[in-house]
Amino acid sequence: MDTIIYVATFILGTIIGSFLNVVIFRYNTGKTMGGRSMCLSCSKTLKWNHLIPVLSYLFLLGRCAYCKTKVSIQYPIIEVLTGLAFMLIVHRVYLIPIAFIYFIVFSILLVIAVYDYRHKIIPDGLVYAFIGISFLRIATEYFWGGGAFMQDFSSGLIISLFFATLWWVSDGRWMGFGDAKLALGIGWLLPFCQNVSAIMLAFFVGSIVGLFLMFVAKMTSKRGGGFAFDKEIPFAPFLIFSAFVSFVFNFDILGIIMGGVFVCLG
Ligand SMILES: [Zn+2]
Repeated sequence: MDTIIYVATFILGTIIGSFLNVVIFRYNTGKTMGGRSMCLSCSKTLKWNHLIPVLSYLFLLGRCAYCKTKVSIQYPIIEVLTGLAFMLIVHRVYLIPIAFIYFIVFSILLVIAVYDYRHKIIPDGLVYAFIGISFLRIATEYFWGGGAFMQDFSSGLIISLFFATLWWVSDGRWMGFGDAKLALGIGWLLPFCQNVSAIMLAFFVGSIVGLFLMFVAKMTSKRGGGFAFDKEIPFAPFLIFSAFVSFVFNFDILGIIMGGVFVCLG
C-alpha cells in the first residue's frame, strides 16, 4: 500500500512540476498561465504525448518533436525534483490533507528558488503568498490549542530581522531584502529549532557551493577564460533547500550538538 501511495505521489509531483515550469517561465512576463503549450522556437502547439512529464523529454531526446530545437533541461529536472519532494513530504506528514498544504507551500518555494536562481530576484507576489500561508499555520495551530502563538510569531520576526540586518549592513551585497521576507515565511512555517538548523545548513551548503564555484572559476581563468564566476550567488535556493531538508528529516542541529538537550517540537 505504501508503495502505491509513494508512486502516486511521485507521479502527481511530476505533473505539478511541469505546471511549475510554466509558472517559472511565464511569471512576470505578461503571459497568462493558461493556454496550450507550444514550442518556444517553432510555436507549434504540442500534443498530449509531447507533454508527459519526464517521459516525453526522454523519448524525444530533449528536443522539440517538430523543429528538433533543444528543450531546456530545466523541464525534466523540476518535474523529478517536485516528484521527489512530494514523496518525501508524504513520508514525513502522512496525513494526506495536511500533506497537500505542504505540497502547495513547497511548490511556491520551488518556483521562488528557481526564479531567484535565474533572475537574482525573489518575486514579491509569491513570497507574500508564502508568508500568508505560513502565518495561517501558526494561527490555526494556536486556535486548535496546540501552538504558542507569540513564541512562533516572534521567532519568525527574529529570523527575518537577522536577514534584514545582513541585507542592511552589507548594502544588499550578502543578502537581498527578498531573503529577509522569505526568512519570515520560513520562520513561521517551521518550529524554531528546525529554523535554526535550516539557516545553519543554508550557510554551510552556500559556502561550499560558493567555494567550489570560485575554485572552478580560478582553474578555468588560468587556461584563458571559460567559466566566468558570477559573484552574486542567490541565497534563496540554499535557504529553501535547507528549510525543506530540515522539515522533511526533522533536522535539529542544536539537538545534535548539545547531545539531545534540546528537544525539537513539531
Ligand atoms: Zn519546435
